[in-house]
Amino acid sequence: MRIDCPLCGSRDRREFYYQGAAVALARPAPDAGEAAWDDYLHLRDNPAGQTRELWHHEGGCSAWLVVTRDTVSHEISRVVLATDAREAGA
Ligand SMILES: [Zn+2]
Repeated sequence: MRIDCPLCGSRDRREFYYQGAAVALARPAPDAGEAAWDDYLHLRDNPAGQTRELWHHEGGCSAWLVVTRDTVSHEISRVVLATDAREAGA
């Protein structure tokens, strides 16, 4: 798999570190209880299909990227700098 870094161009996936889904998790209240904290810390969705993921180009420019990828086919449809994604609200 190759990822088109907006700053470096097309690079092998092994230059990147996968951080996880590019979604904000709702942090539970300090007294929310063990089950709520267990869910927050350990349980993640594992969808089949298009997802938005956060990747770090650790073997290149050190940029954080938001990658839109199909988890079934691994086809990447969009890559943007995380700062640009935040500013655009995307
Ligand atoms: Zn890069």
